[in-house]
Amino acid sequence: MAAGRGRNMQPVGELTVKAMRGESKEVIVIGAGIVGLSCAIWLQRAGHHVRVIEREGPGAGTSFGPAGVLASASVDPVTGPDLPWKMPRLVLDPNAPLFLRWPYLPRALPFMLKSLKMCTRAKTEAIAAALAQLTRDSLEEHRALAEATGAERYVAASDYLYAYRHRAAFEAAEFGFALRRRHGFVWEELDEAALFEAEPLLGDHLRFGVRFPGHGYIRDPGAYLGALAADFQRRGGALVKAEATAIVHEDGKVAGVRAGGALLTCEAAVLAAGIWSAPLAQSLGARVPMESERGYHVELVEPSASLRAPVMITEGEFVATPMEGRIRLGGVVEFGGLSAPPDERIFDFILRLGRAALPTIAFAETRRWMGHRPAPVDSIPLIGELPGARGAFAAFGHHHLGLTAGPKTGRLVADLVSGRRPNIDMSPYRPDRSP
Ligand SMILES: Cc1cc2nc3c(=O)[nH]c(=O)nc-3n(C[C@H](O)[C@H](O)[C@H](O)COP(=O)(O)OP(=O)(O)OC[C@H]3O[C@@H](n4cnc5c(N)ncnc54)[C@H](O)[C@@H]3O)c2cc1C
Repeated sequence: MAAGRGRNMQPVGELTVKAMRGESKEVIVIGAGIVGLSCAIWLQRAGHHVRVIEREGPGAGTSFGPAGVLASASVDPVTGPDLPWKMPRLVLDPNAPLFLRWPYLPRALPFMLKSLKMCTRAKTEAIAAALAQLTRDSLEEHRALAEATGAERYVAASDYLYAYRHRAAFEAAEFGFALRRRHGFVWEELDEAALFEAEPLLGDHLRFGVRFPGHGYIRDPGAYLGALAADFQRRGGALVKAEATAIVHEDGKVAGVRAGGALLTCEAAVLAAGIWSAPLAQSLGARVPMESERGYHVELVEPSASLRAPVMITEGEFVATPMEGRIRLGGVVEFGGLSAPPDERIFDFILRLGRAALPTIAFAETRRWMGHRPAPVDSIPLIGELPGARGAFAAFGHHHLGLTAGPKTGRLVADLVSGRRPNIDMSPYRPDRSP
């Protein structure tokens, strides 16, 4: 599925632990998604010896399938103040972008009820402030991450459009836009003619739009991660194909990571395994409830025309993004757990609304994918030292914004591991907070 999966990966037995030189540490990163690879690259640039343990391959997890948007302005969380009264319609209306696998309801319900407690104005404002610190410079952060790696060509600068059926739908989202404004994000309102000029491929039922300048997207997230991982290895980083089963600590300090039946010793460990981080993190004192928020994409392969920029199709809440050789329609939310197969009806939902939004586009075939957003109950990623072991760091829980905020997270983690104080307030991301 993902480009580069399993290539050039060292088996566990061939690894040796190099001696520490100067300030350089032996660091293990668990997980090669956008967050883990960003951490690995910035740690390597900071002079550490870095190994990444990944059970499948770079970009094999959720980072393979995002809509690709560097969504700097998307700082309003799903749990806004209007969610409680929207919830019944979202769950029961087959045309709403929230899906629930009913047999999973007993497992999801405690998380959903805790999420509803986040829906106050004060909490939503605090969440937006925490997210804005991570997302604001996303395009520049990706450029810096990819610089001289061979992955630069996947980073595209663009506007980010929102397309609505009518202006009233935009006005109904007023609170979220006010939050964006407060964090310095600007946009331009587009009437029907201006929206058509901005994106002529949109269906004529979409009559109102919003254009955020200064955004960007990744032209092929799977290939991007493959290229970043290849460069990390060329510069001496090791990619170990194994499943990490424990972060081992002695006297309150990290001693290594157990993976593939072996103990790999290290002085610092970074847990960046997306949604799969939760059990390991909880054993080290993380207290934020997490759930998989399943998301889907359908790709229109070899489209007859392509888009100028990513467009959020607000009816259906998915994004249409121009990618190499295809248009990706990605989004929606389903609560269904980690093991159930994808629900074909959700692919059909996206395709139906996608065809309506882009009515003139013909394509050769579709490709379909489902993945797991790592959703903390308060939508704020966990970034920082875990209380259970000195030298063990959390870097997961990026929810809807992992592609956007991954590179910045990598820089912050490299600072923390190196003993440098990051230049932002890290308290909102504390893994031991109780939301
Ligand atoms: C449909 C959809 C659309 C999205 N659109 C966007 C978007 O447009 N913009 C945006 O910013 N975000 C978007 N997101 C969110 C984004 O994709 C995620 O937040 C992000 O990919 C999470 O990255 P990650 O590195 O934390 O996790 P992952 O990419 O899941 O990486 C974790 C890695 O850890 C590995 N792993 C797990 N357990 C172990 C273990 N025990 N040992 C070793 N390896 C392990 C996995 O194989 C995986 O490769 C979207 C998500 C979905 C589902």
